[in-house]
Amino acid sequence: MIVADPVIVPPTEMKRSDSLKALLKHPVRQARMIRLLFRSTEELMSKFIDPKAEELYQFFDVLTSTYCYTTVKETPGVLAVTMFIDNHEGGGFYPSGSSQMIPNKLEKSIERNGGYMLYENRVDEILFEDGKAAGIKLEDGSEIGSNYVIYGGTVWNLYGGIIPKERIGPEKLKWVESLEPTFPAIVVYAAVDYSAVPIGTNPVEMFVEEFDEIAESDVTVYISSIDDPSICPEGTHVMSMIAPSKKKWPPRGTEQYKEMKKAETERVLKLVEKKFPKLRDSLKHLETATPLTIERYTLKNEGRVGGPKQSIGQELLKRLHARSEWKNLFICGDSTVMGMGTPAVTVSGIGAANLILRDLRMKEYSYREPEVERVHYLSEKKRKAVDLEKTALDRDTVPLISGSCQLCEIPGCKMKCPDGKDIRGVLRRLESGNFPGAKRRLLETKVSTDCADCPGYCEKSCRRLSFDDRPVPIKRLLSWLEKEVII
Ligand code: SF4
Repeated sequence: MIVADPVIVPPTEMKRSDSLKALLKHPVRQARMIRLLFRSTEELMSKFIDPKAEELYQFFDVLTSTYCYTTVKETPGVLAVTMFIDNHEGGGFYPSGSSQMIPNKLEKSIERNGGYMLYENRVDEILFEDGKAAGIKLEDGSEIGSNYVIYGGTVWNLYGGIIPKERIGPEKLKWVESLEPTFPAIVVYAAVDYSAVPIGTNPVEMFVEEFDEIAESDVTVYISSIDDPSICPEGTHVMSMIAPSKKKWPPRGTEQYKEMKKAETERVLKLVEKKFPKLRDSLKHLETATPLTIERYTLKNEGRVGGPKQSIGQELLKRLHARSEWKNLFICGDSTVMGMGTPAVTVSGIGAANLILRDLRMKEYSYREPEVERVHYLSEKKRKAVDLEKTALDRDTVPLISGSCQLCEIPGCKMKCPDGKDIRGVLRRLESGNFPGAKRRLLETKVSTDCADCPGYCEKSCRRLSFDDRPVPIKRLLSWLEKEVII
């Protein structure tokens, strides 16, 4: 049903005329589809799998919990069907250049179409005029007016301060508080010697010890460097180990917090070590993101990565819809109908954008066979690391060389630049081939110095030097951008 009729907007955001057309065209299929919305995966599976086949259900529990943090009993049937098809029909893929490339490409597209990305500014509040959303207020007190506002955060933050309190009814607050969240997660990042990863290991491995619930001992290990060796130095693998962390965490920075972070890191390492016995001896770098780290960087409350659980009772249509109760305020993200995961939140974003197009009486975005294939599969042609000094610069090599930037949280390069240029932001855009966006950002943060005329203080403070004998060739890259890219 789903493959035959691809829909890329949430069911709540479909045009009434489109739903009606689909119903008239395939009434049986549509009726089945609607039934699927209200049935659990367990109910759906019991028709085909003996309810006594416990181990088989447990296997599917692991699959659904990896994608939705819910068991087969809790997961709405339609979501399980979508995720199983997605995994077995198309398969799982890794974006060349690391998952950072997904936002990079989105940024490229937004900037190409006249949009502006404003980073490192937190929104304090949504502004209203005559009951309609009319802009946002940033934490530094400045305001940005707008005809429409799209919110992409959690339901708890939205109703916990972003919308002024006086605009929220007590019933709504009660509902928000009643929502059961997904589990918090802990992520241990490691760079290890190549030899730590046994031959034949998959880029994604799931290690499960307890089968009867979503347990802290379930670890998913992503070894992206198997698919994309360019993301780390030769002879190295990078691993992200993700596990649920159900404990209550003390405040960040306290002694208890530090101890717990150490203990939790150790717990995850011990679990992975069972499969990769050489792991500990091969460690080159280790870093842990606790649930509170995740909250700090992503504003996911208590590090609960997937918003409210997508479980029967608070599933799909019972979640936030793209059209909010306030005019001109739209919502997308994992607190809305489609729930968590990149495909689901992408669909939710399209749904919100379509509602604005509909209000403006403009053509909405809908599924169509692509005229130009924009997704390229690189299975045979893996990205390789390039020589940072000797490789000649052109539009093909600049993205690869720029990929050597570590996108440091505190970029030494910017601090030593006489103009304080946003070198990190420029290199990130170059990596995704966003040349005009990179040039614009360079000019925006330039005060007086041309990179071509500068001695290159930035390179001497490049963090890359902490593990490599060569910095990112910033001066060469930025001089190339100054000369070769005209906007
Ligand atoms: S210091 Fe080096 S690695 Fe870090 S952001 Fe700047 S160029 Fe990138």
